Amino acid sequence: MTALDQLIAHFEKFPGIGGRQAKRFAFHVLTMGKAEAENLAHLIATLDGAVVECASCHRFFSVTNSTPTPLCTICSNNNRDHAKLLIVAQDSDITAIERSGIYDGLYLVLGGSVPLLHSEDQKKLRGGTLKATIEARLPGGLTEIILAFAVNPDGENTARYVESIINSSDYGVLEKPSVTELGRGLSTGSELEYADPDTIKNALRNRG
Ligand SMILES: [Zn+2]
Repeated sequence: MTALDQLIAHFEKFPGIGGRQAKRFAFHVLTMGKAEAENLAHLIATLDGAVVECASCHRFFSVTNSTPTPLCTICSNNNRDHAKLLIVAQDSDITAIERSGIYDGLYLVLGGSVPLLHSEDQKKLRGGTLKATIEARLPGGLTEIILAFAVNPDGENTARYVESIINSSDYGVLEKPSVTELGRGLSTGSELEYADPDTIKNALRNRG
């Protein structure tokens, strides 16, 4: 495999990127000029360390000061409602929900979705982490778990998978939190990360 083919193959692994787009990206890199390409390569190489995964919600966040912190600014914020846990497929969904400015609880990034035709993909997700998070948060008063997935068959399938984990969690003598889903308002087929703030606001208000 030539270096160019390898680069194309890397871009093809990016989410939502097909072979044609991967080639366009690779040829764009070729036209960048040495300094810019080196800058990009350096950025990628040093990302590990500058960006860390939150120990609680598992989203990536930039380390802004020299003191390493295990929790992101959302999880370490005591003004947020720790009784609510909203489950999303990916980091970018959190960005979209935060933009709406209406949600004040905590999050958990599942790490992907469970495609209807590839249910074995659920093995790659944070199912075990979700179960552990629920059980660890219960004594502190976790009262609501909100499922926020795309309004399409894969999103539905992911929601059913997450529900099965919630149902199999050990509640002991404590009450099982209520499980809600984003209300309609999000149009069919829509991905959360592309939804506008008002749409998300309405979907959150109309959850049930
Ligand atoms: Zn976090």
